[in-house]
Amino acid sequence: MAVLAINGGKPVIEKENEKLFHWPIVTQEDIQAVTEVLEAGSMSGSDITKQFEKEYAAWNGTKYALGTCNGTAALLAAMWACGVGAGDEVIAPALTYWATALPAISLGASVNFTDIQPDTLGMDPEDIEHRIGPRTKAIIVVNYAALPADWDPIMAIARKHNLYVIEDNSHAHGAIYKGRMCGSIADISAASLMSGKSLAAGEAGMITTDNRVLYERCIAFGHYERTGMPSNYNLVDAQVHEEDLLPFRGMPMGGVKHRMNQTCAAMGRVQLKYYPERIAEIDKAMNYFCDGIEHIPGVKGLRTKFENSTQGGWYACKGSYNAEAMKGVSCAKFCEAVMAEGCTARPGGNMPMHLHKVFHDLDFFRQGKPTVLAFGQRDVRQGAGTLPVTENTPDTIWSLPWFKHFDKAAIDLHIAAVEKVAANLDELI
Ligand SMILES: *Cc1c(COP(=O)(O)O)cnc(C)c1O
Repeated sequence: MAVLAINGGKPVIEKENEKLFHWPIVTQEDIQAVTEVLEAGSMSGSDITKQFEKEYAAWNGTKYALGTCNGTAALLAAMWACGVGAGDEVIAPALTYWATALPAISLGASVNFTDIQPDTLGMDPEDIEHRIGPRTKAIIVVNYAALPADWDPIMAIARKHNLYVIEDNSHAHGAIYKGRMCGSIADISAASLMSGKSLAAGEAGMITTDNRVLYERCIAFGHYERTGMPSNYNLVDAQVHEEDLLPFRGMPMGGVKHRMNQTCAAMGRVQLKYYPERIAEIDKAMNYFCDGIEHIPGVKGLRTKFENSTQGGWYACKGSYNAEAMKGVSCAKFCEAVMAEGCTARPGGNMPMHLHKVFHDLDFFRQGKPTVLAFGQRDVRQGAGTLPVTENTPDTIWSLPWFKHFDKAAIDLHIAAVEKVAANLDELI
């Protein structure tokens, strides 16, 4: 007689408690704030966005924050600010969402992808230095799945080679690396605040930095109405604006418009206000779940290995999977069985970036050759088998259920679902 639900047995969780996973948490306060923007007709203004920026910078521990229309825009502006241009290269991890790297192509640059570490899921510091060439302009680092990257060695390499570091903090708002908040570690950071992220403001993004020049360049790139204006942060300091930016005042140098819709800024302000207490509850719930499955050989919740570090809102949180310790059952099969028990589990993470055609063949500038080569770059394209840790992720990591509330009884059931599959692996062979 089959025990596992995938084989017709009774599932552990018969009815999922949707509230446990619902995100973002929207209250009357969000609705009120957004309604006020609509009623005032100030969606395209920037007064509320500037307030949001001030609060965000204070929370994240940076001097400057600049709101954008989405995280992709924030990354594009950050790359341009760091001097990435035609014929240049950036170094980025291969396991990430495309926006970490793809804006480089629209600047005429190419991307040299590194492998990841199996425990941080972030860029492997050992795989960076040999990729640095004369045209390398920046290293882009992702705190993947809310796990802080291995920052100390990465920053040391960047400083040694005099390279900018761009942090893609779209997964790790509020996460802490060795006592420092993610989003404040690199030279400049970009974060998505789209609705699915742990800090969700709608369709929006945020740039954070301590570097005044990078901040001004991001403004000049996509916030034309603010270029050369006295800064929001330092009214007496207008002459700090770079000489090479000021003549272009009144036009965005990127030919793009990156302003945040103020309905998003208004919602973002309310979300930020409650964010620390909400992620504290997520942290408690996720740690409880990870503790609960810790005894199972072959399956673990991935938690940051660094001291004085946290995973913030645990966005896209992952577990590790070792098929050998699971009687050879594949990660995909295991996840299918756990799903049948009523607990969310999906194999793998983002698709490996280095294998995608867009980083090999896209002729963005219509020059009759791939853009990654079109400006005299060396060929840094990589095929299958070159970044094994990344390429193996469909077999080695899985998405954990992302609890937003600490409901012990409900989480116990999810632990029981995983335990049940692990105890009946023979049924899957
Ligand atoms: C979501 C995301 C982005 C892009 O942000 P958008 O707001 O969707 O444009 C960039 N990088 C990573 C790692 C992301 O997950």
